[in-house]
Amino acid sequence: MNQYIRCITCDAVFAKTLFDQCPEYESMSEKPSDPFREVEKDDFKDFMKEHRGHPVEPLQILEESMVSDQPYAEPMKVSYFKATNGKEHFIIKRFRRRIEEPFSYQLIHGDYFLQLVQLDLQADEIRKQLQWEVDSPPLKEEQLEGFVELYRHVLKKMDVNRLERVAYESSHPLEIYYKMDEVSLFYLLRNCRSLFKGDDYRAIESFIHRHKEDGVLLLKATYQIQLVQSHSGQKESLSPTRILEAKRFLEKK
Ligand SMILES: [Zn+2]
Repeated sequence: MNQYIRCITCDAVFAKTLFDQCPEYESMSEKPSDPFREVEKDDFKDFMKEHRGHPVEPLQILEESMVSDQPYAEPMKVSYFKATNGKEHFIIKRFRRRIEEPFSYQLIHGDYFLQLVQLDLQADEIRKQLQWEVDSPPLKEEQLEGFVELYRHVLKKMDVNRLERVAYESSHPLEIYYKMDEVSLFYLLRNCRSLFKGDDYRAIESFIHRHKEDGVLLLKATYQIQLVQSHSGQKESLSPTRILEAKRFLEKK
């Protein structure tokens, strides 16, 4: 676990890791027989030297607050997490200047929250799955489209804040999957009765029950990170409601 130290004068932040005192091996061109020498390395000592005479303080990291707007697997991704000194709120921005370099950190006065950009259904996946699963007899093209349109209509009445988030493989940290609520399920099933008759209705009903919890009927929400900077350098605390909102969101996850 990293420990974060802030220089109050410069607003610089240092991430103290277990590796700070690991020696690095440097190539020495003048002595080819002995190509490497050990370089004593203590980044934290360097940081403290650079900020000699400046007051420093430890920062507390808000657990599980890390977010990024790039896929998990992206090595050059920029991440943000929340920190506090007990009085003020900060965002720590973590990034790499070059792929072979260690992380750099930037301290921002303020907070962030995640704003919903879009809540959508997985239309293509629904069509493909329906064609694959309901094949004797297969559904007609207009029935497929009718179902997608009906589900889209049901979606319009849903409130993302009332939906339950599901653990579902997503390669992007800002794409979150939710399942429809009971009222929407009821509404969807009831309206399917006018679109599908007899065996078709039975097929679509069991399809809905198979896919509502963890299948293609999950709804995909896309968020974006909104940074809220307090005036730089000013010791300003953020509105408690916003912090609460962010906390509530994170707790839901
Ligand atoms: Zn300093």
